[in-house]
Amino acid sequence: MPNLKIGNQASVAAAVALTIGGLWTPRAFSQTKLTGNKAVVAITARTTLGNFKATLKTLSDMGNRQVIDTVPSESNKIAVAWLVKELDTLGYRDVTIFGTYRSIYCTKVGTISPDSMYMICGHLDGVGGFGGALDDDGSGTALVLECARAFAGPAITTRCSIRFIMSNAHEGGYCGANEYSSKRRALQGKEDPPGSKQYPEPVWLGFINQDMILYDHGSPPGPVQIPGASTRIDYCTFSYTEGSLSIANQLIAIDKVISATYPAELATSLGAFDAIAFMNYCPTVSVEEGSGYLNNPYHHDDADVYATYSEADFALGFCATQREVATLASLTQATITGDTPAKSEFPAAHTAPSSPSLSFLARQHELTIAANSRGTHTVTLSSVDGTTIISRTGQGRMSYSLGTESIGAGLYVVTMNADGNTMQKTVLAAR
Ligand SMILES: [Zn+2]
Repeated sequence: MPNLKIGNQASVAAAVALTIGGLWTPRAFSQTKLTGNKAVVAITARTTLGNFKATLKTLSDMGNRQVIDTVPSESNKIAVAWLVKELDTLGYRDVTIFGTYRSIYCTKVGTISPDSMYMICGHLDGVGGFGGALDDDGSGTALVLECARAFAGPAITTRCSIRFIMSNAHEGGYCGANEYSSKRRALQGKEDPPGSKQYPEPVWLGFINQDMILYDHGSPPGPVQIPGASTRIDYCTFSYTEGSLSIANQLIAIDKVISATYPAELATSLGAFDAIAFMNYCPTVSVEEGSGYLNNPYHHDDADVYATYSEADFALGFCATQREVATLASLTQATITGDTPAKSEFPAAHTAPSSPSLSFLARQHELTIAANSRGTHTVTLSSVDGTTIISRTGQGRMSYSLGTESIGAGLYVVTMNADGNTMQKTVLAAR
């Protein structure tokens, strides 16, 4: 993983790039609040935790949904057939099984700009013996299905289009996502047939990927969800940086409104995800559980099944689902008419006040420290003998990234003073 730095973004309110030796980059997030947008609230309220969990259980019970080379397993075929039927039932008219790898997509067609779209994606296949590939990536797939459900039907309109993508054969090397990107990007914005006002591949305004969003039990992972569990929103800094950051900021801003307990973190460690297939062609973000996929011990394991996860884990994923629905509604200036939305279903955990929390994401060449406090916090990185290396002060939800080449691999102590509490944890930095 390369050592990535945030750039200079005027669009991030109060984002100040403070660096010591070019290393230490704290970020403050946009304080933009969504207020009074009834359509966003009503469309988001069409998602339910019950539907999200039912989809997770169905996918898990099917099995690992593996594709070997180009050959889908029986469970993969069953999953594709089931998902296609669900999308059909929701009323989408263009449900397509695409290409050699049998990825699925369908479209909410925009009323003003049907020739451009946002894409939201999770991969439907998995690996792991007798497991159910539930977190990886039944969770992202369930999120995409919930998004499709939220925008289904004529009562909802969007200015531009939204494409719901369930990529396939990801575990063989992002095969489905690569196939989609390579075969379809040249078709962008072309009206086909001419004069029909139909655009089989609208112009790509952005790609939002979800890969593993249920499990944040810390690093190293413990038996239960950590306080301050989060999902992390990585935006691409290789290309389309400004657009990628803009989408990420929108997700963060909406997250602040809808989630008190499960804060989203902004980060730049866009990893080995389907997003890679799109990042050179449009703004790209990728959403992952806060402590990173390597801190789910059930990843690619027999135990990645529905019964392994707790209500708190499901609530974390559902919170991300509602955030993505709300963000798409906002990005596409969606409206809702003639419909009586269900009462919003937020798990009780969402309304609990946030308490100070400190967590880490350690990756090759980079250590990210996520701090969350009501008031001001001070985060200090020290060597194990107590020598202060770097100290930074921030407020609210912040993440700090540190390239580890200069400090070297090894154990470090991170101390946070916030809201009258002192928290201290050791962290292993990797090179
Ligand atoms: Zn995955």
